[in-house]
Amino acid sequence: MPKDFLKDAADAYDVVVIGSGLGGLTAANILARDGMSVLLLEQHYKLGGMATWFKRPGGHIFDISLHGFPYGMVKSCRRYWTPEIADSIVQLHGVRFDNPMFSLTTTFNRSDFTKLLITDFGVEQGTVEQFFDTVRNMNFYDDQSLTTRELFDQFFPGREDVVRLLMEPITYANGSTLEDPALTYGIVFSNFMSKGVYVFQGGTDKLIKSMEKEMRVNGVDIRINCDVQKINISQGKIASVQVNGRTIRTKAVVSNANLRATIFNLIDKEHFDKQFVDEAEAVRLNNSSTQVYMALHPDDSIPRDTGDLLFCSTADRFQTDLLLSRDITSRTFSFYYPDTRPDGKGRTLIVSSTNANYEDWIGMNKVDYEASKQDLIDSTLDSLEKYVPNCRERITHVEAATPITFEHYTKHINGASFGTKFEGLAVSRALPQQIPGMYHAGSCGIIMSGWLGTINYGVIVANDVINHLSSTTSTSRAITT
Ligand SMILES: Cc1cc2nc3c(=O)[nH]c(=O)nc-3n(C[C@H](O)[C@H](O)[C@H](O)COP(=O)(O)OP(=O)(O)OC[C@H]3O[C@@H](n4cnc5c(N)ncnc54)[C@H](O)[C@@H]3O)c2cc1C
Repeated sequence: MPKDFLKDAADAYDVVVIGSGLGGLTAANILARDGMSVLLLEQHYKLGGMATWFKRPGGHIFDISLHGFPYGMVKSCRRYWTPEIADSIVQLHGVRFDNPMFSLTTTFNRSDFTKLLITDFGVEQGTVEQFFDTVRNMNFYDDQSLTTRELFDQFFPGREDVVRLLMEPITYANGSTLEDPALTYGIVFSNFMSKGVYVFQGGTDKLIKSMEKEMRVNGVDIRINCDVQKINISQGKIASVQVNGRTIRTKAVVSNANLRATIFNLIDKEHFDKQFVDEAEAVRLNNSSTQVYMALHPDDSIPRDTGDLLFCSTADRFQTDLLLSRDITSRTFSFYYPDTRPDGKGRTLIVSSTNANYEDWIGMNKVDYEASKQDLIDSTLDSLEKYVPNCRERITHVEAATPITFEHYTKHINGASFGTKFEGLAVSRALPQQIPGMYHAGSCGIIMSGWLGTINYGVIVANDVINHLSSTTSTSRAITT
């Protein structure tokens, strides 16, 4: 008999959270901490969504999306998770760029970038200061018609090298392009510039296990291998979810699944008005990714000055569409030294990440798909050779992931790594006006993607749910977050 992953689950909960990405986990934790009964349903056999890892023989543990996030994670984790989680967040000191226009190492914060822009790139100090002040003051309610390209043209006309320095890491960080609204660039870039780039020491496995422990303390009922099929609406309100052959009643749903999948796959269309459906249909998905995971021989190591994050490219010019091309010219290498997991086995690992188009990978037969993966691995090793000499002989394990891999494990439509483009945010926020009690908290709108963006979005939505449920029940609740 198949295992019952809902064994002993109750018939009704205050809130059902669908999906255990960082947005879903954070919303579930806050809601349970507030005293609500919360059921967290994850279709995969592991929690974390894109914040995940995998193990391979030889003691290797590969992180998928632990490459870097802004300092704001410390505050968010302390407030909405635990001091222990916040205290494990450490800065990366070696962020490198290597491309035909320039090669440099930076701490990736305002003071270092200011110095670089003035001394290495010859930009006037006043222009640099004005640029930083402008982007720092951008906020969500600003004019959205200014594009990132227009912003750069205002401050650095004709300076493709400067645009590359300022934009390339952000394109990797959330898939944004020069055509996206400037405020999405400004908010994310300023978040990084405030103090640099950070990671979680101990690895994603430690982070997610700590979060699971905290959720259990707060009473979240956590269920893996539970693929939600449908959200039922009755009399215009959330009624229940269908999962693993059961119907579980609830007053509110927070979907952490892909925004488009939530609207078009989990809910019947008749529950939305036409304008909303039109707007949701117009929401563009963000791009996907490819990755190559490489492990050095356990006795081998690389010098620390190889850097932590290396944005390398052989393209003469910076073009966002080139970053997505199958003909890869740009890669981000993350170098994981033994201190990534101080309690681990002392391995040195390298992960190469590249933004990618789903269309370039779907529809191939098995033979072509495997050949394309091998090609991805070979070209990545060729590129790595410059930074890790003789890497082919030194690497004992190598494998690749494609947009199909990301789609398979997270059910994100088209394997979208960062949810949807900016217009998705308004649609996500409008869901509860369509169906009272129905919320979405997950990667969307560029600023609400990435580890920090999704955690913060989980917080915002949890507070919305708390307000909604206190206004619909007679007992008033204290808002604790
Ligand atoms: C290759 C790569 C590198 C990245 N690097 C970084 C980085 O360095 N820094 C950074 O900040 N961010 C990075 N990101 C982005 C970051 O990982 C994501 O933005 C973030 O983790 C997404 O969180 P989320 O809350 O949107 O949920 P997701 O992680 O998207 O998870 C959604 C969850 O919902 C589950 N689900 C879906 N449908 C159902 C259903 N019907 N029933 C039950 N469960 C369901 C899925 O299985 C999944 O667990 C990277 C992403 C990728 C792909």
